[in-house]
Amino acid sequence: MSLIRAEQLTKNYVAGDVVVNAIQGVDFTIEPSSFVCFVGPSGSGKSTLLNMIGCLDRPTQGRLTVLDTDVGALDRTAAAEFRGQHIGFVFQDFNLLPVLTAYENVEYPLVMVQRWPMEARRKRVMEMLEAVGVADQANKYPAQLSGGQKQRIAVARALVASSKVVLADEPTANLDHATAMRIIDLMKTMRNELGTTFVFSTHDPKIMAEAETTFTLEDGRVLRTGR
Ligand code: ADP
Repeated sequence: MSLIRAEQLTKNYVAGDVVVNAIQGVDFTIEPSSFVCFVGPSGSGKSTLLNMIGCLDRPTQGRLTVLDTDVGALDRTAAAEFRGQHIGFVFQDFNLLPVLTAYENVEYPLVMVQRWPMEARRKRVMEMLEAVGVADQANKYPAQLSGGQKQRIAVARALVASSKVVLADEPTANLDHATAMRIIDLMKTMRNELGTTFVFSTHDPKIMAEAETTFTLEDGRVLRTGR
């Protein structure tokens, strides 16, 4: 059974009188414990696809199944619950909460969604901050951190709750080579040890080299599927 399955998946945005066919009837499957990339020019539909897989947006037509759940049929509350339990995100602009420290941003999914006890939480948050190399920045606020540091904290937050699926929009875009490799290694370890599936939107050849499958999008269609 595939982890993610799209069947004739379609997304139209309506802006005034204009309809944008962002995703035009695509089919694909993503297997458990895999690294998958969506590539393609700006506007080809990568973010739209990631947002639908992450239940942030709903299909207009067709069917999208994630972990045996028809996510297009979830209402807002059920979608939020599903997201909190199963999906981690690394957004391109990080989306860190400015009023929380680095530590508190990473801790957030464990408090708000999964309700971990305090001691286990503290240990887990510090492990993740160390794994991405920013443990010494734990008490700083996002405004006091560089782009690369914020990126690493966003990655730690996405991985902290051991979600089954992690969606990452250009997760290495602001990182130097060594840091990017370190984060890719961390993701590979999670994939191998926990069976996490990573779905990327990326142009980074370092990530593409690790992917089992690359889907090339153009104008909302899958042009090519390959390595
Ligand atoms: P990519 O991530 O590959 O750059 P997107 O998924 O962001 O592509 O966009 C696909 C198409 O859908 C583009 O034409 C974009 O302008 C359009 N689009 C994306 N989001 C919206 C929205 N909220 N309202 C209207 N059009 C949108």
